[in-house]
Amino acid sequence: MSKHLTKRAEDYSKWYNELIVKADLAENSAVRGCMVIKPYGFAIWEKMQAELDRMFKETGHQNAYFPLLVPKSLFEAEEKNAEGFAKECAVVTHYRLETDPDNEGKLRVDPEAKLQEELIIRPTSEAIIWNTYKGWIQSHRDLPLLINQWANVMRWEMRTRPFLRTAEFLWQEGHTAHATKEEALAEAKQMQEVYATFAEDFMAMPVIKGAKSESERFAGADETYTIEALMQDGKALQAGTSHFLGQNFAKAFDVKYTSKEGKLEHVWATSWGVSTRLIGGLIMTHSDDAGLVLPPKLAPIQVVIVPIYKGEDQLNAIFDKIRPILQELKSKGISVKFDDRDTMRPGAKFAEYELKGVPVRVAIGKRDLENGTAEVARRDTFEKQTVNQDDLITYIEDLLENIQNSLFTKAVSYREAHLTKVDTFEEFKDVIENKGGFVSAHWDGTEETEDKIKELTKATIRCIPNNAINEVGKCVFTGKESTKRVLFAKAY
Ligand code: AMP
Repeated sequence: MSKHLTKRAEDYSKWYNELIVKADLAENSAVRGCMVIKPYGFAIWEKMQAELDRMFKETGHQNAYFPLLVPKSLFEAEEKNAEGFAKECAVVTHYRLETDPDNEGKLRVDPEAKLQEELIIRPTSEAIIWNTYKGWIQSHRDLPLLINQWANVMRWEMRTRPFLRTAEFLWQEGHTAHATKEEALAEAKQMQEVYATFAEDFMAMPVIKGAKSESERFAGADETYTIEALMQDGKALQAGTSHFLGQNFAKAFDVKYTSKEGKLEHVWATSWGVSTRLIGGLIMTHSDDAGLVLPPKLAPIQVVIVPIYKGEDQLNAIFDKIRPILQELKSKGISVKFDDRDTMRPGAKFAEYELKGVPVRVAIGKRDLENGTAEVARRDTFEKQTVNQDDLITYIEDLLENIQNSLFTKAVSYREAHLTKVDTFEEFKDVIENKGGFVSAHWDGTEETEDKIKELTKATIRCIPNNAINEVGKCVFTGKESTKRVLFAKAY
């Protein structure tokens, strides 16, 4: 692989795949569709986890852990959910290997060790969790039950892409139980809000909040709320989903509670999840032809300081100046790295940190020592500034905030420039084909029309926006009456 990245304009998909390897985020594994997340990639995930976890706890949730394997009889209990995920399930049928008598040195499945009941590797955990909730919920005093788990799941996806769609992925899944429909609906919407806040305030990735059309809903949900982001190549990304599950799982697993009035009622449920897909979204929102661009709030290294020196004396002199600055940055919670490796030239270090998206780079050389200055470069715009060492801390603090905000503003501008209202199918096709982005159009509300549009343009309904205004119009495809515009796009 060459040192340089393929340019985005040349081949966006190739650029994305190369970037992941060169920025040391992840690599392919021996298992199709399953990736190895490397330390630098995992550090980004850990930052995401820490913030999301804080937000979940702030909204009253607790973490727990449920098993990886789901007995088939439990898996099939909620029929729609089972049917929706059946084609993507990996199934455990045996529990032992033995030496193959016909093939020396090889192992085979021991035919005697066949499981009585097959076990499904969870594609999502509603079944095992609702079977457990049956034992936890008896009275209205047990509600609401607000649980989250951090876990891996497996969906046998046929077409995979690192982070965006993998067969095994890491995620969190919230599973809650409530006494009333209203409470469950409020919870599902609250978590959509939490996801949107995280995406915008931390990932600097603007999202549109909305509801899925029936055909795009989670299997087993009565309503799916989504946050949809727009990637730099004009394709949409479903970045997170929060489902109102009605009483579907409570009925399938017979989970009832005694109300204050002494009546026995089924509980109401939600589930919600975001995954390592968010890392793919982060890459495709901000990064450029030089590599990764990270918003400071999620960057594992926020500031790197590179000394430019000849010989140990110069390095020591620089380090003496830098030591208190390093300490003060750290005490302010800023993650800073001092890179004094003598095995690499400064230019090569600069290129590496550019590729890895470190938001701020500080370089200090002999002349800076004489002048009491440092050179500060920002990754997002490549701008450089000479700063007095005395002002360095404040300058860096402001700059980190500035980068975080300007990444968001830039992404919002892109999204706004790529959200097009159309009223004819000709325009629709033209925008989807040539410009990309979201298309806001009237739709007659039928699955048939949705399918035909998808067949003809590959665009799907991303969501019915939460803030869609009632507006009398005609379906862009059938001309039938419509009361709202919905958002279409080609999506990952
Ligand atoms: P779901 O349970 O299907 O609503 O999925 C929850 C979230 O997980 C989705 O909104 C996606 O962001 C993400 N997700 C779904 N499938 C995959 C996959 N194959 N790889 C990575 N992330 C996924």
